[in-house]
Amino acid sequence: MDFPTSYQESKKIFESMLCNSEHARWSYRCPEEGPGGDLLTVDVARLGPAGATSLLVISTGLHGVEGPVGMPMLQIAHQQMVRRRSDAVGLLMIHALNPFGFAWSRRQDQEGIDLNRNFLLNGEKYQGSARVYQKMDLWLNPPSPPRRDAFTIRTVGRVLRHGFRATKQAIVEGQYDFPRGLFYGGSRNSWVMKLLASNWQGWVGDAKQILHLDAHSGLGPWGKLQLLGEAPQTSSDHRKLTHCFPKQAKDFSLGAPVHYHARGGLGRWCGQQLPTKDYRYFCAEFGAYGPLKTLAALREEQRLWEWGQHERRRQSRYREAFREIFCPQSPRWRKAVVDQSIEVIHNSLKYLGEEGSGEDGPTVF
Ligand SMILES: [Zn+2]
Repeated sequence: MDFPTSYQESKKIFESMLCNSEHARWSYRCPEEGPGGDLLTVDVARLGPAGATSLLVISTGLHGVEGPVGMPMLQIAHQQMVRRRSDAVGLLMIHALNPFGFAWSRRQDQEGIDLNRNFLLNGEKYQGSARVYQKMDLWLNPPSPPRRDAFTIRTVGRVLRHGFRATKQAIVEGQYDFPRGLFYGGSRNSWVMKLLASNWQGWVGDAKQILHLDAHSGLGPWGKLQLLGEAPQTSSDHRKLTHCFPKQAKDFSLGAPVHYHARGGLGRWCGQQLPTKDYRYFCAEFGAYGPLKTLAALREEQRLWEWGQHERRRQSRYREAFREIFCPQSPRWRKAVVDQSIEVIHNSLKYLGEEGSGEDGPTVF
């Protein structure tokens, strides 16, 4: 299994993987270039019979720099599809939803938008921010290049004042008032949202039941996979989820979300485009360095990008250190990610009713 170190490497792995299978293929050119002036694309492939009633969707790199962590899931799902040759289940793979962020090792897209806050529904406005965020703006997004400023200690002070949950909620729920700040959801539909608006239904096709895993990293305990999504609304739905994903059972709470609420998330929007289908979305989030260190790294990178000298942005040591936050080099962390990717693909096929997925157990790579 691979953890690519760059967008270009990841794309090569994706393309060589596809050489071994029949598939439908789409590629969309990003309006901006990569650091070496290279072409950036969102690449989509669909495997399996066109008439498959169930579809497993795996998307990666919505938060650019988190792109590498999705590669094992893509590879494992692809391998399973080729091996099983199912008549009932198809596989849709979306490589690098934010190719600009992936190529530049950024969380945001080419317009500085946090894409997982950009997918507002019709009628919702790109406006507003939490009061706690407004108070924290200058501390969270100082208008100056990075320097030592006791951020961690001062953060602890803020957390004590507002409470951990309230502070976390205010920071990560998304904001539309501070374009040069973190978790900015944009002022209009992003480029990738328009891309999905034109193509998402076509990629899904006739499938009636869809399970969508959107790969992310950085949030939660070290190396642990959490499945974050809309809470199950019925007890049978809840039972099915806890049966199919027993290790993530505590992520599912009947009727109410367990984790923070965010505005403009990808999953809710994708579901709304498919009103007649049984669609379930999970942000498949692999934990790494914990909230304080991750927030400090995001803040430093944002300051460098927005207020630093242009040449420093390109320096590889900054980019490499930032990548480490979302895809640690630690062999134990990577093994944990691969093991849980195998398991979650296996369990996802079980959820989709794929025969055999409950008998032969996950394939070991
Ligand atoms: Zn993410």
